[in-house]
Amino acid sequence: MIIRKHISKVLEELSDLQRSLQKISDVMPDRHFIVDKTGGIIARFGNSKAEGFYQTDDPSGSHISDLCSPELAQILIKGVEEAVNQDKCITLEYSVSPDDIKPPQPIASTLEGEQWFEVKLVPLKESVSDRPLVVCSARNITERKLLELELKMMAVTDPMTKLFNRRHMMEQLEKSFDIFTRYATPGTILSLDIDFFKHINDTYGHDIGDAVLIQFSSFLQSELREVDVISRFGGEEFIILMPNITAEDSTPAVERLIKNTRLLHVIKGDITVDFTISGGLTEIKKDDKNIEETLKRADTALYQSKESGRDKFTMTI
Ligand code: GH3
Ligand code: MG
Ligand code: MG
Repeated sequence: MIIRKHISKVLEELSDLQRSLQKISDVMPDRHFIVDKTGGIIARFGNSKAEGFYQTDDPSGSHISDLCSPELAQILIKGVEEAVNQDKCITLEYSVSPDDIKPPQPIASTLEGEQWFEVKLVPLKESVSDRPLVVCSARNITERKLLELELKMMAVTDPMTKLFNRRHMMEQLEKSFDIFTRYATPGTILSLDIDFFKHINDTYGHDIGDAVLIQFSSFLQSELREVDVISRFGGEEFIILMPNITAEDSTPAVERLIKNTRLLHVIKGDITVDFTISGGLTEIKKDDKNIEETLKRADTALYQSKESGRDKFTMTI
């Protein structure tokens, strides 16, 4: 009698616990699945109304590869295998576009563009037909991810011109210096400076000076190659890293930059403000001790252009 009473109390407590767990998972922004090691989906549980997911149907009984692109399925199945083999929780982060989802799903109005997901894969002790099981908790983290990406972007760019800032450029230059000197691949450095910029500010105002900087920066982005790394290195000074091209071979492009800058202008009322640039061109040499030495050579070449009349570039190898 006492034992039966005890068992019924334990059962009652268990079902209370189950209800509490269900309540907790109902308010969590995750969807939970149990999958086997091969990617078969055994069950879905927890909050089926969790927002931020493409699929609304219960995928139990299907396979991960039935639900998404082969590339995404491979990432997930590899993660599941890793969780089982290493017997530990694996966290994956990946982005999904509507094209990744099979069969095509109606897009919820809350899902705009690419979505980011975080999936935690926790191995279970249980298995089905000798196939080990894994709990898979998926959460839409797009808001957080976009914020993170924006913060990362802000840390490396100059807010006014949207070009890379000096700190990020120095990191890129140092990395490239090691690669170019070790593998003897060419790396060209171009230093550019707007001529008589102080005069532009003093004559037309600081906002016109800013407009010149913004226009020149977008001009650089449109004129140069995708692989060229462009930075605002100081007030009206720009450093450009041109990988896999010698200084000699880059001269037609630099000549074009100088020439086409003469065509740029900023308009204020009935005043048209033109400007020119001067440049110093060099390349990373295997004898350079560090990137500062290469930058110094580019700066000296720039100085020569300024001294000999501006609106031109000088090459020093
Ligand atoms: P040079 O031809 O020898 O290069 O002469 P310069 O007048 O261009 O060079 P200088 O170094 O004398 O003046 C650069 C000016 O750039 C001084 C500084 O106030 C201005 N400047 C720096 N940053 C900004 C900015 O963000 N906006 C504006 N409008 N001006 C800036
Ligand atoms: Mg200047
Ligand atoms: Mg300057």
